[in-house]
Amino acid sequence: GAERTKNVLILMSDTGGGHRASAEAIRDAFKLEYGDEYRIFVKDVWKEYTGWPLNNMEQQYKFMVKHVGLWSVAFHGTSPRWIHSVYLAAIAAFYAKEVEAGLMEYKPDIIISVHPLMQHIPLLVLKWQGLQKKVIFVTVITDLNTCHRTWFHPGVNRLYCPSEEVAKRALLDRLEESQTRVFGLPIRPSFCRAVLIKDDLRVELEMDPTLPAVLLMGGGEGMGPVKKTAKALGEALFNKELGKPIGQMIVICGRNEALASTLRSLEWNIPVQIKGFQTQMEKWMGACDCIITKAGPGTIAEALIRGLPIILNDYIPGQEKGNVPFVVDNGAGVFTRRPKETARIVAEWFTTKSDELKTMSENALKLAQPNAVFDIVKDIHELACQRGPLAKIPYILTSSFSNLI
Ligand code: UDP
Repeated sequence: GAERTKNVLILMSDTGGGHRASAEAIRDAFKLEYGDEYRIFVKDVWKEYTGWPLNNMEQQYKFMVKHVGLWSVAFHGTSPRWIHSVYLAAIAAFYAKEVEAGLMEYKPDIIISVHPLMQHIPLLVLKWQGLQKKVIFVTVITDLNTCHRTWFHPGVNRLYCPSEEVAKRALLDRLEESQTRVFGLPIRPSFCRAVLIKDDLRVELEMDPTLPAVLLMGGGEGMGPVKKTAKALGEALFNKELGKPIGQMIVICGRNEALASTLRSLEWNIPVQIKGFQTQMEKWMGACDCIITKAGPGTIAEALIRGLPIILNDYIPGQEKGNVPFVVDNGAGVFTRRPKETARIVAEWFTTKSDELKTMSENALKLAQPNAVFDIVKDIHELACQRGPLAKIPYILTSSFSNLI
């Protein structure tokens, strides 16, 4: 007989572009694979249901990554388990009612967390509700390597790790091997399933049809040395002797409007397009020949799928640092913080060192895991099937949490 549609609640936070992109990737893959069997809610529960400081997380994150020293302290300062668990338990107690209200509204059969701070509180609330055994709780880690320890919680049904390195860290942090799976970072299905032809994309995106193209970006917020790099590329990709360009440039500034308008006010000798937040990144990546970005996991995983050699020009201390050796040691790109050097490398790739560009592109494709998001949703589906036909989950609003704490 027809089974009841299962509710899936994906917990994320709009810090950067990565968590939302992963959440939406999972949602889209569920729809493609299982249609109406699952009803998916992507929620920034914290922002909607709790007061300061958690609803302010996005603002705090933006502030802190702009002042990287502070972010470094926050990242490492909360690393010892006893500090973060005591801190989070205190917040959980304080906000339990609001978090519970969030769970009540969506009545999830399955909860998927794609955020490092969204294991402890929901799992505590489930425990208090006596729902631990009924609701499936899984975590999908969205950092490629040096992830924060708050990602790891032994109470989850599954922990999806993007790399073996992360899985190893999880085992050191009290998770069982049977709880972990390594499939890769979930990337929007539009990236993995699309058949894209470069020549067609160039026409559609109004790019030069023949000049090699470099894509310059800095995550969802347009961070890193984008402006200086753009200027250096403007010079390095113009051959003064011949008086013509040797390449073209696409700059995607994400939500950094100020950066976009500054760059638009400059004059360029090479074909340049400067864009704000784009919704079809797979097309821009498919139309270009290499990418320059800060070490954001989402952008890196997407670039690998498109076979783009990567120049990493920055990283957020802590969680993004490990993404650098992941790319460089696997021969899919290089790291440099110096805009002039970045520009020189691109100019060489487009002229004398096209072999290097080709090799790196092949290495990138070898590292790519385009099916990760489908492997993840299939595994979650299997977990749900193992539970048998789900009974209606008794979400009961208790008014006596204060007694429990
Ligand atoms: N992104 C996008 N449009 C833009 C800029 C970025 O869709 O204009 C996406 C990008 O494709 C990637 C994500 O935002 O999926 C950025 O994630 P990443 O982990 O690289 O960095 P974050 O922004 O989270 O620091």
